[in-house]
Amino acid sequence: MPNPISKRGDSERIVVAGAGLVGALAALLLAQKGKRVVVVERRSDPLKHGWAGGRSINLAISTRGLTALSRVGLREKALAEAVRMPGRQIHPVGGGEVFQAYGTQAHHCIHSISRGRLNEILLQKLSTFSTVEILYDTAVENLDVEGDFLLGCDGGGSAVRRRLVEKGEITSTEEILDYGYKELSIPAAPGGKWQMTKEALHIWPRGKFMLIALPNLDGSYTLTLFLPYEGAESFATLKSDEQISSFLERHFPDVAALIPDPVAEFKSNPTGQMGTVRCSRWDSAGLRTLLLGDAAHAIVPFFGQGMNCGFEDCAFLDELLEKGGDWTAIAREVSKVRKPNSDAIATMALENFVEMRDFVGDPKFLLQKEVEKNLEKTFPGRYRSRYEMVSFSRIPYRVAYEAGEKQKRLLATLCESIHSVDDVDKNAAQNLIEANLKEYFTYWEDQNGSWN
Ligand SMILES: Cc1cc2nc3c(=O)[nH]c(=O)nc-3n(C[C@H](O)[C@H](O)[C@H](O)COP(=O)(O)OP(=O)(O)OC[C@H]3O[C@@H](n4cnc5c(N)ncnc54)[C@H](O)[C@@H]3O)c2cc1C
Repeated sequence: MPNPISKRGDSERIVVAGAGLVGALAALLLAQKGKRVVVVERRSDPLKHGWAGGRSINLAISTRGLTALSRVGLREKALAEAVRMPGRQIHPVGGGEVFQAYGTQAHHCIHSISRGRLNEILLQKLSTFSTVEILYDTAVENLDVEGDFLLGCDGGGSAVRRRLVEKGEITSTEEILDYGYKELSIPAAPGGKWQMTKEALHIWPRGKFMLIALPNLDGSYTLTLFLPYEGAESFATLKSDEQISSFLERHFPDVAALIPDPVAEFKSNPTGQMGTVRCSRWDSAGLRTLLLGDAAHAIVPFFGQGMNCGFEDCAFLDELLEKGGDWTAIAREVSKVRKPNSDAIATMALENFVEMRDFVGDPKFLLQKEVEKNLEKTFPGRYRSRYEMVSFSRIPYRVAYEAGEKQKRLLATLCESIHSVDDVDKNAAQNLIEANLKEYFTYWEDQNGSWN
């Protein structure tokens, strides 16, 4: 196979494998710095042929992702095409709805955005740089990248990662979740109206499985059913039309009524796989390579952070490039600083799955959440929930993880023998906070500063 990269000039060139969300942002940040970039993408050009799909239709972008987008001047453009979600709308078994705010301030919301549209926005801007060459319909493994620095942004099944493993440069593990996902959709009502609460991430927790819905700008919703592959209620037992429709009507009667042909959609949409990828390191000096995004750290989607984390990798890389230094040292630093953080969000994402499907409908859990909100309001700068740290700040994920573990124990103690949020002993709460969470105060006091 001839090398289709045109090797013009002699300045250092960076090859970015993958023009997905992370690859496109990484390439843009490099192009802004005047670097020569070649982007290699296996798929066809979405700007010419339309979005080819593959992963979820829409996703939630929050502070980390938005902050990274602001480095390429695209934050506001992305937000203009997103639907804000200030909380979750829970649909318990037996009907009714409960709204839970995600945070304590008005700007504490996550945003639902079309994956294809966000990718297009990034690629459109990328195509305006004369120093960038984008090769579509080309797999990175078919290229000779010798002499170039290679950024592996080719997603969870990364060929670049595979090569680093094969050459003995890194080790990696891939844990596939025993749950799959299936997307379904609720169309807009006449006039482009939303058929459920618009500004919320909807959740139907059902113990061993769950359904969620994110609003789209055009009035529709994309639903995602997370279900085990095997077992009494699983993808294995949903084969016939009758099995599919009775499952949906039994567990999600309000939603089933809003999907025009749920059985046809269920059968024609693919069942997606989810998993966690962990690498011993992300860089190789010998092969002049750095992994970023899902290629380095695919995670399960239950904290809505996979892309946000990948975007934060790019922002960190950009900060290091500003300081200068050679690629080998920069790549080593990215791996050293970002890997413990991606390991932390990988663990939190797995835990959040249990919280979403099992507990959000549980009164004890809801009471703990209410008490937590109260602590945040009563003790500003002294308490900040894990969800807020992850979604509405840039406090390192590993700090959010550590603090969250201590907060769980603190909340369990405070809620041990109470029945309502008014029963909380404020003095005991203050003492517990001072005794257990002091080391995090510097992050939390800085409400509008560098961590936010
Ligand atoms: C159901 C679901 C819901 C999600 N929801 C959220 C959410 O709400 N918020 C959030 O932050 N994250 C979410 N995520 C995670 C998010 O989708 C990923 O973290 C994100 O897509 C990672 O971007 P990436 O560019 O690293 O990888 P990808 O998006 O996988 O992009 C990789 C690109 O590389 C290309 N490629 C692959 N192999 C090659 C090759 N050999 N040569 C050349 N090109 C190649 C692919 O075609 C693709 O364009 C969700 C994931 C799933 C599955």
